[in-house]
Amino acid sequence: MLIVHGLLITMSEPNQVIEDGAVLVRDGLIADLGPSSELLGRHGASESEIIDCRSSMSRTPKPKVILPANICAHTHFYGAFARGMAIPGAPAINFVEILEKLWWRLDLALDLEAVKYSALVCLIDAIKHGTTTLVDHHASPNAIDGSLDVIAEAVEQAGLRAALCYEVTDRNGMEGAWAGIEENARFARRAAQHGSARVRAAVGIHASFTVSDATLDACVSVAKEADIPLHLHVAEDQADQDDALSKYDLRVIERLDARGSLTHRTLCAHCVHIDEREIDLLAQSGAKVIHQPRSNMNNGVGVAPVEAMLEAGVCVGLGNDGFSNDAFAEMKVADMIQKLGQRNPRAMGADVATKLAYTNNARIAQLFWPELTGTLEIGAPADLILMDYTPFTPLHAGNVPWHMLFGMSGGMVTDTLCNGRWLMRERRLLTLDEAEICAKARELAVHVWERI
Ligand SMILES: [Zn+2]
Repeated sequence: MLIVHGLLITMSEPNQVIEDGAVLVRDGLIADLGPSSELLGRHGASESEIIDCRSSMSRTPKPKVILPANICAHTHFYGAFARGMAIPGAPAINFVEILEKLWWRLDLALDLEAVKYSALVCLIDAIKHGTTTLVDHHASPNAIDGSLDVIAEAVEQAGLRAALCYEVTDRNGMEGAWAGIEENARFARRAAQHGSARVRAAVGIHASFTVSDATLDACVSVAKEADIPLHLHVAEDQADQDDALSKYDLRVIERLDARGSLTHRTLCAHCVHIDEREIDLLAQSGAKVIHQPRSNMNNGVGVAPVEAMLEAGVCVGLGNDGFSNDAFAEMKVADMIQKLGQRNPRAMGADVATKLAYTNNARIAQLFWPELTGTLEIGAPADLILMDYTPFTPLHAGNVPWHMLFGMSGGMVTDTLCNGRWLMRERRLLTLDEAEICAKARELAVHVWERI
């Protein structure tokens, strides 16, 4: 398949912008790219499918933007049914109450069918907004066994890539904790033996403050045995630090390090409340941090020290923590939260925000799919999007990040390609039936809300 006449942005280093660009896709990989005239000359005669990505909706045909598809390094499919839900009682006054009043009630109310449809509606949202790779963190304490299989089937149906884990916690008793550990171990075996290349496994832990040393150690040994990453929330709120200090006389990251759970394959979501020593430990271990500023703002937990972590050499990527799969919105907020939090208009910058979303998220995704690059380059998997974005100021390799933050949005994505396969063409979903899935989800959400 030859995609021609697009405004091609590679996001490679150095970034390349080709005004009339083309991409050749063969066997799920990018086989060639460059100016359309050159690629048409080299492959035009032999290629049976040629896709002209100039928009036909405009009076004068205008090129769509061709970009690498987005990666989301931390999300929660299970949280979808929280949208519009009334939370009983007085509003939560702090982060722990948000967990107790909202998330720890919602997850208890999920059965396997609700798990499936929660995942499907999020996967639709991802395809529509151009995100093709997702790292999910799942919880459904009353439907643990088999829950990751149900999500894996939804991911298969959608045609996306996802790394799945079950969040282990002691909050539902030791039986619940062991069931979670077993689900991670079972799914890891299944993924290794029978899984498709698009679905991968990790071991999930809720957070330091909800697991004992015994539970933490058991998770670490499952991850080691299965040779897969660990994925947990770290110091999202000061409450996590207070718990670790009072119970273990250690800060959260010191505790993780002391229990052998901090390695280059540990995914630490948030890291809002960490000090310099913890940043050093993250850097030394090579652990990955996932930043989700929209969630941090919504929960009122604080501003993560992203720049300090980057300066220390920590790989910080971007997730959405269950918010919409619009990576462009997350990038924009990642930039603005630092400027506001530091009262400094020089903080962060669009170039740094896009580095989190592309370069660093690709490094995180490589823990599961070593072949992913997060760029458009020859040999990389063909994960790309077409966007209906027409710049009205010059767009060149040096200013792409500012067009991304201040011009582009996920709603402009018209076409999504994952592993060389179209999942959306001209805004029409090809693998999932949105109307049918959303109608069923609305039905199930009523029952889930009744159980809250
Ligand atoms: Zn999370």
